[in-house]
Amino acid sequence: MSRPEIPELERLEALIGRFGAHARVEVLARVGHGGARLPIYGLALGAEDPSAPVFAVTGGVHGLERIGTEVVLAWLHTLAELLEWDRVLADVLARTRVVAVPLVNPWGFALGTRGNARGVDLMRNAPPAADGSGSWLVGGHRISPRLPWYMGERDAPMEPEAEALVRFVEREVLDASVAIAIDCHSGFGLTDRIWFPYARTRRPFPLLPEAYALKHLLDATLPNHVYRFEPQSLSYTVRGDLWDHLYDMRAARPAEGAFLPLTLEMGSWLWVKKNPRQALSLLGGFNPIKPHRLRRTLRRHLPLFDLLFRATASGPSWFPRDGERERLATEAFALWYG
Ligand SMILES: [Zn+2]
Repeated sequence: MSRPEIPELERLEALIGRFGAHARVEVLARVGHGGARLPIYGLALGAEDPSAPVFAVTGGVHGLERIGTEVVLAWLHTLAELLEWDRVLADVLARTRVVAVPLVNPWGFALGTRGNARGVDLMRNAPPAADGSGSWLVGGHRISPRLPWYMGERDAPMEPEAEALVRFVEREVLDASVAIAIDCHSGFGLTDRIWFPYARTRRPFPLLPEAYALKHLLDATLPNHVYRFEPQSLSYTVRGDLWDHLYDMRAARPAEGAFLPLTLEMGSWLWVKKNPRQALSLLGGFNPIKPHRLRRTLRRHLPLFDLLFRATASGPSWFPRDGERERLATEAFALWYG
């Protein structure tokens, strides 16, 4: 079987050519199905020092949420152009790393499914944590790969796509002094949400003061932004979330550092509301279909990516000071968990 056509994968490969020597590119895995193999690409740009600040962008974990990959590619396109002339960017990249896995689940794209070719939901596929639980069904289950949100078999190794992402993030991100990741999804609600951990439990996570400080930075710097910034667990809880898993791995390391893995959950019901007929198609439930709405979505998130990149590079400057953490934690708790 020849390789299936995936327009987003082809655009990613063209973009890799565009980056040339600016990017270190790896094939993290070649995932097989039906006699063909599809690559998962990892890109790294800028500082090679493992402890340098890292901004990570990922998308395409869920095969139906193609807009996530599009948004990542749109930002990478801007970055590739800026690298040609922008000395400010060059200075920042000399001491900061950008890493990207724009299309984590190529078979989901090829087959038009949320999960991978084996029907596993990659964002429910991390090893189980001791605490927490998932919302019924949507939070992960082991009933059947024919139902969405299937976690895979008990005690099975992680799926190759999940494994590839975890290994890459482990190596490129987890030693960073400051790291922010944004994983781009779509499909929940009417607003664009930015989620922070945990996904598995309503218990606050240890970097609550930092998450609250980042929300303040966003509100103050982009006062007209469109996002609702909150813990994922306010919407639903999920077992096997890869970012909970990676956060736990970071927290278990002895070296000091802050890792804020965020999820951008674009509110696709807005696109459906404005164009109800698109709800009749599977992809229409998760992606802007009309060209003008796609363009609007692609430019909508560029200021967010720019802010998060700057916040990563400038890490400690906006972090809560020791004397402030307790007050910020109290305020954050009242806002999100009270
Ligand atoms: Zn998703």
